[in-house]
Amino acid sequence: MLQDIWEKRPLLVSGPCSAETEQQVMDTAKRLAATGKIDLFRAGIWKPRTKPGMFEGIGIAGLHWLENVRREYNLPVTVEVVTAKHVEEALKHEMDVLWIGARTTVNPFSVQEIADALRGVNVPILIKNPINPDLELWCGAVERFLNAGIKNLGLIHRGFSSYGNTKYRNAPMWHLAIEMKIRFPEMLMICDPSHICGNRTMLREVAQKSIDLDLNGLMMESHIDPDNAWSDAKQQITPEAWAEMMESLTWRKETSQEEMFLQNLNTLRHQIDQLDEELLILLGQRMKLADSIGEQKRDNDITILQANRWNEILERAFEIGTPLGLSRDFIRHYFDAIHLESINHQNRVMNTNKTIESNK
Ligand code: PEP
Ligand code: MN
Repeated sequence: MLQDIWEKRPLLVSGPCSAETEQQVMDTAKRLAATGKIDLFRAGIWKPRTKPGMFEGIGIAGLHWLENVRREYNLPVTVEVVTAKHVEEALKHEMDVLWIGARTTVNPFSVQEIADALRGVNVPILIKNPINPDLELWCGAVERFLNAGIKNLGLIHRGFSSYGNTKYRNAPMWHLAIEMKIRFPEMLMICDPSHICGNRTMLREVAQKSIDLDLNGLMMESHIDPDNAWSDAKQQITPEAWAEMMESLTWRKETSQEEMFLQNLNTLRHQIDQLDEELLILLGQRMKLADSIGEQKRDNDITILQANRWNEILERAFEIGTPLGLSRDFIRHYFDAIHLESINHQNRVMNTNKTIESNK
């Protein structure tokens, strides 16, 4: 059964942020199971909280409740583990899937401790991205579990912490999720809109965006009485609201075998490949001009960086580009990259000269 849920697309994971009481866990599971929109039931029992004095999880008692959920409602269950001891307890109580929280993924010592505790055990692991936007830490965690022989590994995108106020609790930084997907194309990746949003209003929008980007499922917190939840009250929704949201999302697939669609896609992709090639040829020509400018500056002892000239170029790019439908953000990023490459080219020209001079 477990292999079936692991391969299920979209993989739907829901349940409370924290297991609080047996009644709350059982009622949430009952109402979720009744919707038919759930593959895996989640509940945190060890809660690494930002500050002491907050509810830090119900502990081992929660494992018994999760066992009851599996038995009563035939639902696989998952729990977060933070230490080797947690792994031992979770395995003793036959949790179906374990997840690694964002506060753990940042710490290679903890990840290694958990990976070592799992050596030789065949339990699927979901790894949340680290709190900070560092892809290498996320990859490092994947590698540690792969090295420990874990076969069923998946990823959870839960957003990244950034200093100061943003509209998200944890900024999604979608480009990092995309980069991770490119690095591990075969690996399951689901999205956790609850911890990205930190509120209820944006959950649907974030969930839809993750589907549009070909993520493979969702983990979202649900509670029988969200306003009175003992942790993360603002972002939890009722089981029925979860099911309604699952109904209202537009589920997409990566491809289709439909003849007309494939033909149209092919033609458009061909045109894009052609244009990309032309863009690269033009960029190559542009850098040759930068080399020539570098030589001129070198021979006349002029600095490479000329802020005014660069601002003029950028302004002109905005004027031409925005009416063509290009965003100012894109134009800035694109020209920043061109500028950097151009400076590197000019730098090379100047340093080559220095080398030749010093060899004379
Ligand atoms: C959680 O899932 O309840 C949790 C603590 O999440 P994160 O590790 O993403 O903060
Ligand atoms: Mn939570």
